[in-house]
Amino acid sequence: MTEPALEWDTPMYRLAVAQLDQVARQMKLDDNIWERLRVPQRSLIVSFPFRRDDYDTVDTVYGYRVQHVLTMGPTKGGVRYDDDVHLGEVTALAMWMTWKCALIGLPFGGAKGGVRIDPTRLTRTELQRITRRYTMEIIEMIGPDRDIPAPDMGTDEQTMAWMMDTYSAQKGFGVPGVVTGKPIEIGGSLGRREATGRGVVTCVAEACHHLRMELRGARVAVQGYGNVGSNAARLAAAAGARVIAVSDVKGGIHDPNGLDLAKVDAWVREHQYLEGFPGAGSVSNAELLELDCDILIPAALQNQITEKNAGAVRAKLLVEGANGPTSLEADAILRERGVFVVPDILANSGGVTVSYFEWVQDAQQFFWTEEEVNERLHKILSRAFREILQFSLDKQIDLRSASLWRGVERVASAKRKRGVFP
Ligand code: NAD
Repeated sequence: MTEPALEWDTPMYRLAVAQLDQVARQMKLDDNIWERLRVPQRSLIVSFPFRRDDYDTVDTVYGYRVQHVLTMGPTKGGVRYDDDVHLGEVTALAMWMTWKCALIGLPFGGAKGGVRIDPTRLTRTELQRITRRYTMEIIEMIGPDRDIPAPDMGTDEQTMAWMMDTYSAQKGFGVPGVVTGKPIEIGGSLGRREATGRGVVTCVAEACHHLRMELRGARVAVQGYGNVGSNAARLAAAAGARVIAVSDVKGGIHDPNGLDLAKVDAWVREHQYLEGFPGAGSVSNAELLELDCDILIPAALQNQITEKNAGAVRAKLLVEGANGPTSLEADAILRERGVFVVPDILANSGGVTVSYFEWVQDAQQFFWTEEEVNERLHKILSRAFREILQFSLDKQIDLRSASLWRGVERVASAKRKRGVFP
């Protein structure tokens, strides 16, 4: 294989490509398709001026949108606000979206977007201006039949509402299907907010069943207490697990007897961060990963479990809520140590699955009940988990390789059928 173009060649992109290369070798993927899949089909970098609330300062801000594969239908993927966002990261995340959609059987290729800002340091009006301008900058690339953004780290329902409003204002009529993860009032889906965490817990339950491990009473540690982490923690607790630690960007809290999550949520609502939560010890993000627990759920950001700390992970089951939390080297160490890993593209696919439901509901203007959404999500995800688990047992490969294999295989087969133009 020749080296990829350098623009997006960063450590995170290299991880995504190394994962693809590993599975491409295992499945003896056609060289021509392999080469195509290693690079994104479309990438856009924009810079735009951003006026701060003081009316004096105008910063230059960078934004990205990458569409990895256009073979499968429109592309789909979140928008991340983080001061570390760069083209390589967005490209890696877009690739993972491709495999994720394909392994679940959703009619999308992968995409991702991002703006290089720290959203925690901006006011609501500043975030609104950035979101609207970013939407304008990428407007030619997105649309309900083209590319459909959704929330990711640092963005939420409100961000999607501003994106939808900006897009609709330009078209001259309301276009709810241009984004998913919107508020219910403007075409959002019931159950979307909790969907990624719900999918994570579905995978936790399926993995426990496979490992003959009791979920009831199991000790769970969750890194990241945002959309994915907080919902995964709450639903794991509802299933009888004991959530002993959670964390956010400033650090974590730990109680070996189990945290009272209703109290944690009330604290976060009032103080924004977990810091200072009374009645629990404090723990750093690095320490949380090494806690004595049964189930570890990284649900913050990438590159958290590496060759440096993989040997110290004490959980028996690791379910990746975040995208790319485990490095390739760490994966090998965990495998050797018998830690069962449910990979990101399977474990966090509940989000895009319900985003798909939202897109379908918007197209039909026919909305489902929360029970219908949750039931369909559960059915799709537990079936996907079992099929991939069986495939991994048949092939004697781990669950990450099996998930990638299924995803890559479906895209490769579609590419073969569509052929090469011209
Ligand atoms: P979020 O912004 O709602 O929450 C992120 C959490 O991580 C927050 O608690 C934040 O404080 C914490 N965090 C940020 N930087 C950190 C750091 N350096 N160390 C430790 N913690 C840190 O984001 P989210 O939507 O919950 O996304 C979390 C992860 O899940 C990301 O990897 C994202 O790509 C992935 N994901 C999200 C969805 C979704 O539907 N939102 C779907 C699939 C995957």
